[in-house]
Amino acid sequence: MLIYIDGEFLPKSEAKVSVFDHGLLYGDGVFEGIRSYNGRVFKLDEHLERLYDSAKSIMLEMPISIETMKETVLETLRRNHLREAYIRLIVTRGVGDLGLDPDKCPNPCIIIIADKIVLYPQKYYEDGLEIVTVSVRRNYAEAINPRIKSLNYLNNILAKIEGKQAGAEEVLMLNPEGYVVECSGDNIFWIKNGILVTPPVHMGILEGVTRNSVIDLAREAGIRVEERVFTRHDLYIADECFLTGTAAEVIPVVKIDRRAIGDGQPGKITQRLIAAFRQLANSTGTPIYTTD
Ligand code: PMP
Repeated sequence: MLIYIDGEFLPKSEAKVSVFDHGLLYGDGVFEGIRSYNGRVFKLDEHLERLYDSAKSIMLEMPISIETMKETVLETLRRNHLREAYIRLIVTRGVGDLGLDPDKCPNPCIIIIADKIVLYPQKYYEDGLEIVTVSVRRNYAEAINPRIKSLNYLNNILAKIEGKQAGAEEVLMLNPEGYVVECSGDNIFWIKNGILVTPPVHMGILEGVTRNSVIDLAREAGIRVEERVFTRHDLYIADECFLTGTAAEVIPVVKIDRRAIGDGQPGKITQRLIAAFRQLANSTGTPIYTTD
């Protein structure tokens, strides 16, 4: 495996960063998780735009243009001869001293890891997931804005730990006001009387690339989509529920806090959207190899 670090492609054992990198010392940096299907990178422009937006928000000046970054991601995939891959793109604040001051870090560090994708077990797509609400709240936008995909994921990790203790694969997170916002690493949708609902981004969620694709696909299929505030009660009485994320794609939820959702089986609209998403992911995207 060859890993890109600051202009070089290095073997895994040699791909290292300094212990003075503020990404390590403080979680100061931004990242993306991207996938390629069938030799094409899915929604690469959208992921890069979110990365550059996250960097702008934390005042991290990207050392290379978005076009160069795009080409570097594709080159990393080529060097590793990958067609179906998970790509982790990381930009840290870079090396500084032991203080917080980001101005002491003149050179951000860019890392690109491209690996074979590990898929969720097929049974979750057939039988659906069971999720539980955790006590850890999604952060205030005024503290660490969930719209920034930063290297500081402790909020989500604390939620994940609580979920694992309860035996759940994924967890439901509320914002500080108690409204449902998202999961530890996925966005949430539900359906009632044929209307698809998901929280608006200003409530304190990561604006998922998969989320946005699913909203578009649903609208194209003539399904009404509403981005609005809702509570756990709305979820408990929903007909269907599903999660979206780069790794998970579209995954059905059949139980929330021990309550069966609808008839306790993956719903019809959910199944349609799973199929529509797979079709889109397998037929679009930026080609990695010129022969594609
Ligand atoms: N919310 C959170 C907190 C995430 O970390 C992610 C990405 N894993 C998502 C939602 C889904 O975003 P995307 O569809 O862009 O992967």
